[in-house]
Amino acid sequence: MAVDLHLHSNASDGTDPPEIVVEKAAAIPLTAIALTDHDTLSGIPAARDATRSRGIDLIPGVELSVDHHGVKIHMLAYFIEPVAGPLQDRLEELRAGRAVRNDLIIERLNELGYPITMADVLERSSGDAVGRPHIADALVAAGLMKDRAQAFHELLRDGGPAYFERDRLTATDAIELATASGGVTSIAHPLTIDAGESTLRDVFEELRAVGLAGIEAYYSEYAPNIRTQLADTAAELGLVATGGSDYHGAGKPHLSIGTGRGDLVVPDSVLEELRARRG
Ligand code: AMP
Ligand code: FE
Ligand code: FE
Ligand code: ZN
Repeated sequence: MAVDLHLHSNASDGTDPPEIVVEKAAAIPLTAIALTDHDTLSGIPAARDATRSRGIDLIPGVELSVDHHGVKIHMLAYFIEPVAGPLQDRLEELRAGRAVRNDLIIERLNELGYPITMADVLERSSGDAVGRPHIADALVAAGLMKDRAQAFHELLRDGGPAYFERDRLTATDAIELATASGGVTSIAHPLTIDAGESTLRDVFEELRAVGLAGIEAYYSEYAPNIRTQLADTAAELGLVATGGSDYHGAGKPHLSIGTGRGDLVVPDSVLEELRARRG
């Protein structure tokens, strides 16, 4: 059987409540899933409750957007319990940074002639990690954009007309904090990294040196041969080849739990390998 170690609920920018994510995953069936909402663990308790009597394991996780010498990386942290702890205690600051940035984005959108308010945005969100996807949803609800994809393409994408930076952890801090919290880390969708002067492999090796455990080789948006190449790279570097769909419910309607675009299989052994990396 298979696992899916990259899933979003409406605790961040997915559209399904955590218990529905678990219900859908158990129905496939998958043996284990990781809930990896952006900057929040608030979906974990409900997800965990939903696993009882369903024969599926829940790995508590979180996805962080981090900086590595000017290079943006998404970092998945696994086995992060929703209690106080080194990484956990930083999440609130990261969410506060989102609030500052959301205000800037809305102000810019208003200047550009898109009259939406923070109240409109909060109405599109059910969780505590509010971000660009919810702003996109507010633009759609107001009839100003067709869907999230158009809102990102025309306005919200990195470097787009309504884009603002926000506070991030460094990749090294994220790995060290996750490790101190009893967790392990894996670089999400590694091919989205724009490594600039250095190579992806350099980035993997630099972060392996500070404790990185894996890279997300089995990613739904990658062709099977690319997944294999990334898994080979992971093996060469002594990293775990992790995987997941990046399911967001209706937020990314083409991606299904477990199978991604239909051809994703993340083997059970990935989770065993990640467990073995815990300190
Ligand atoms: P934020 O965390 O607020 O910076 O928003 C980034 C999130 O927006 C990513 O994690 C994706 O889930 C989502 N996203 C980015 N680009 C797109 C897109 N073109 N269409 C839909 N969602 C997107
Ligand atoms: Fe997302
Ligand atoms: Fe991501
Ligand atoms: Zn994600």
